[in-house]
Amino acid sequence: MNIMTALKEEFTNTAPTERSPYECGSCEMRFELQRHVCPQCGSYSIERTEWPCLPER
Ligand SMILES: [Zn+2]
Repeated sequence: MNIMTALKEEFTNTAPTERSPYECGSCEMRFELQRHVCPQCGSYSIERTEWPCLPER
């Protein structure tokens, strides 16, 4: 048993696009990091989407 295997499975099972907090308002492409310009369509309307489990304060 090693922890690297478990971590690898975790990453494999979760598609990175599903948890990416930023989304292009034009082509709906998602990013894990905020970008000023969408590399897919060149749009500037990158918006942050809702975090899945962020409690409001
Ligand atoms: Zn785009």
